[in-house]
Amino acid sequence: MRLTRIVLIGLSLVLLLALMNFWPTFFWETSDMHRIEGETTTVFYQQEEAAARQVFQTAEARAPDIIQLLDTDNTLPIEIYIYDRQTDMQTKKYGRIGPLLGLDWYIGDNVKDRVLLTSPADTSSAHESDTIVNAVLHELVHAYNHRINPKMSYWLDNGLAGYLSDQVPGEDLLGRIPIPTLEETKVSGPLAPLRFADMGGYEYSYTYIEFLDHHYDWSMVVELAKTGDFVWCFGVDEAQVYQEWVRYLNERPSQAD
Ligand SMILES: [Zn+2]
Repeated sequence: MRLTRIVLIGLSLVLLLALMNFWPTFFWETSDMHRIEGETTTVFYQQEEAAARQVFQTAEARAPDIIQLLDTDNTLPIEIYIYDRQTDMQTKKYGRIGPLLGLDWYIGDNVKDRVLLTSPADTSSAHESDTIVNAVLHELVHAYNHRINPKMSYWLDNGLAGYLSDQVPGEDLLGRIPIPTLEETKVSGPLAPLRFADMGGYEYSYTYIEFLDHHYDWSMVVELAKTGDFVWCFGVDEAQVYQEWVRYLNERPSQAD
């Protein structure tokens, strides 16, 4: 009996701690938030209005292209939540433990088709203000990606997000980071974001979408994003596409620069 009671108390404590951690992630809007409503987005912001307007204008200007490129039927406004402090943004995704992970490069994310962003006015992150403003486009693509296929692979999801928001890889990518293996391109699960950043996933997945765009019809790239079916879209399987991509990388013009 005593053992049962100890186990029950232990379980309750774990549940309570989990609830305390994740409680902030249940609500994106904070009580001090104002909103700006546009054609394609609704922006929620706290005190930093000028920075929020910059994000809003950047998102509104690009969203129609993204909608067209991803061929999505659902054009309801995307909700964008901007937090004045980076730690608050991180808390909204991972709970109170978020800011303790020390990820100073981590400034934006998405929850399903909602975008969470650090205010470009927050100068404490590892990024410049302009980079944060443009990061909204990367997250916006994720939001639409979720609408066209909530089960899209992490690799394709981020490749499209980077490619359609012009996050062009830096010089000499191949010289800096080894090309991810086929297995690595299938990264998934809760630790995917960390592994992805370590293996140059953002830059390499960009080149993967660039390769698909150059070698196949864009409508088939979008079809792949929607279905994940390589053979149906390209007539070859994922491993063959991977080999073609590696060959493309080695011949990619910018590598010679
Ligand atoms: Zn991303």
